[in-house]
Amino acid sequence: MVNFEMMETFNHEQVIYCTNKEAGLRAIIAIHNTTLGPALGGTRMWNYTTSEAALKDVLRLSRGMTYKAAVAGLNLGGGKAVIIGDSATQKNEVLFRTFGKFVDGLAGRYITAEDVGTDVRDMEFVRMETKYVTGISKALGGSGDPSPVTAYGVYVGIKACAHEKWGNDSLRGRKVAVQGAGHVARYLCEHLYNEGAEIYVTDIVESKVKRLLETVKAHVVKPDEIYDIDADIFAPTALGAIINDETLPRFKFQIIAGGANNQLEDESKHGQALLQKGILYAPDYVINAGGLINVANELEGYRQDRAMKQAEGIYDVLKKIIDTSKKENIPTHVASNKIAEERLCQVGNIRKIYTGTSGFSGRLGELTAGR
Ligand code: NAD
Repeated sequence: MVNFEMMETFNHEQVIYCTNKEAGLRAIIAIHNTTLGPALGGTRMWNYTTSEAALKDVLRLSRGMTYKAAVAGLNLGGGKAVIIGDSATQKNEVLFRTFGKFVDGLAGRYITAEDVGTDVRDMEFVRMETKYVTGISKALGGSGDPSPVTAYGVYVGIKACAHEKWGNDSLRGRKVAVQGAGHVARYLCEHLYNEGAEIYVTDIVESKVKRLLETVKAHVVKPDEIYDIDADIFAPTALGAIINDETLPRFKFQIIAGGANNQLEDESKHGQALLQKGILYAPDYVINAGGLINVANELEGYRQDRAMKQAEGIYDVLKKIIDTSKKENIPTHVASNKIAEERLCQVGNIRKIYTGTSGFSGRLGELTAGR
């Protein structure tokens, strides 16, 4: 069970346990920080072996969302939810509608979306009980698949890194090793190919590679060979923890910039090692923020062109992070955390200014009553 000390370690605002025996629901919602706006973050469904493991995960993930939204310039806070259970066998309408009721009870302090183990269909059940859900299918007026916007953000992020390394952001003739041939990788490779980059690609599922080769030309390599390619850029776009003790000594890349989450196996150790090796690393949660930008756009009535335009901002955000990293000789992921914290602090200060309408809706007497 959560206790105040655990919440105070990383300044979480609120943790909500949700249970309903009839529906078989056991869920935890964590709201980390709402300085910038309502806490937005997906619902992960995972077969956690203990409720402590679920709690640990939701605390970690919700905090990550605060930083991601802050650095992306969004007016959103950080939150996340986990549902304990097997997503292959235990998903049903009642489970997600029941969960939706709990989300609704938070009256907009937390907005949910899909995540690992949940999908658009599940969110449609959630939406039957609450409006505080995003990432709904296009058919229902939602934003649909976020991958095109995520991939575009990764592409412009790679260009920002290229500009830093080579004084020019053109990717023509640059060799790019792309790990994964899934949703994000496919759109990313199209941008890279159209600009004249030479692509090396891998996936553990052959049909994914085949599909990718329908629209772009690329050299196909075996999954473990991707780390050894003599390429300028490595774009991890499959799974996490691929920057680790085993892979790091093999890298000949000058830039690592890709869409996957949690790329550094050990944040401080491997982030520092990349800095020492002179490899420019685009922090994952910054370069892949297009997905969050996409669902955030849904809250204002979705338009993909607006989402794309906002994702383009990742270029400048990365340049700022790189500048800070150079100036202070700190790893880029530390620089981005710093920039996120600064924005939280600065915007938090603006919110302290009383405008005459915010803060209460009743008469002045009610505000001071009981003091
Ligand atoms: P996806 O499932 O469509 O693609 C992932 C691909 O990686 C799959 O084709 C899979 O077979 C492949 N893969 C798995 N293990 C591999 C390995 N060892 N070597 C090579 N390939 C391997 O997922 P996606 O939506 O394209 O997301 C890719 C990554 O980007 C994930 O880490 C995801 O969390 C992250 N991400 C995605 C979005 C988005 O908008 N979809 C947004 C932010 C972050």
